[in-house]
Amino acid sequence: MWMWMWNTMERRGVSSIIFDLDNTLVDTAGAGRIAIQKVRELLKSMHVQESHIKDICDHFLRKLLHESFDPSEGKTIDDVRTHHWYEALHETQGTDPDLALASSCYYTWKNTRLQVLTLSPEVRSLLEELQKIYKLLLITNGDTQTQWEKIEAVRCKGLFSLVVVGGDHPEQKPARSIFTHCFESAGVRPQDCIMVGDCLSTDIQGGINAGVRATVWINSACKSVPQGSVTPDYTVPSVLNLNDVLLELR
Ligand SMILES: [Mg+2]
Repeated sequence: MWMWMWNTMERRGVSSIIFDLDNTLVDTAGAGRIAIQKVRELLKSMHVQESHIKDICDHFLRKLLHESFDPSEGKTIDDVRTHHWYEALHETQGTDPDLALASSCYYTWKNTRLQVLTLSPEVRSLLEELQKIYKLLLITNGDTQTQWEKIEAVRCKGLFSLVVVGGDHPEQKPARSIFTHCFESAGVRPQDCIMVGDCLSTDIQGGINAGVRATVWINSACKSVPQGSVTPDYTVPSVLNLNDVLLELR
């Protein structure tokens, strides 16, 4: 009888889905492109030399990509990113830029990104349907303020039993510890969960490290898995295809 019970438990289907946020549930990259376009328009209206505008934005994006943020240094992420724009203006124009212009660039970029970032009606209704059957969990990497502002802007918190922001924890994805925190807080076992995300090195690697039942890679650009990378169990072009995977796992 114990064996029968054990078997039944092990065969029990997936009961929980862990999602990544950026570029998995919401098009953060698309929102970023629109935000940069807004800054270009701002710089144009401020009579910044046309040939400099693209370079300024490229410099900012490079700094954003390589950003390291340590909240213990006493600066906010707003300070750090305003400074990225200040440096981008300085490096491109060669003169000491106006601090107010750097600040305008930053808040135009930030506010536009938050305004256009949305959960599409299709994704929202998918999550609403899944919520009836599965425990939905969200683990998003990034600094506390930035990620909570996005979560607020997208109004998605109510769709999840638990929302975990990497910056609130000692380690982010793919570390096992943030997943363990998630499992314990949500009262689920790794083998009951699948991990869904667009990033192989954080979401998929993290899911594997944590011992989830299966990993699902959102591969919207239809890229092939690079050599040396982890291999996801399932690959789908969009989170809207998740039901196909869930059917297979049933
Ligand atoms: Mg992502």
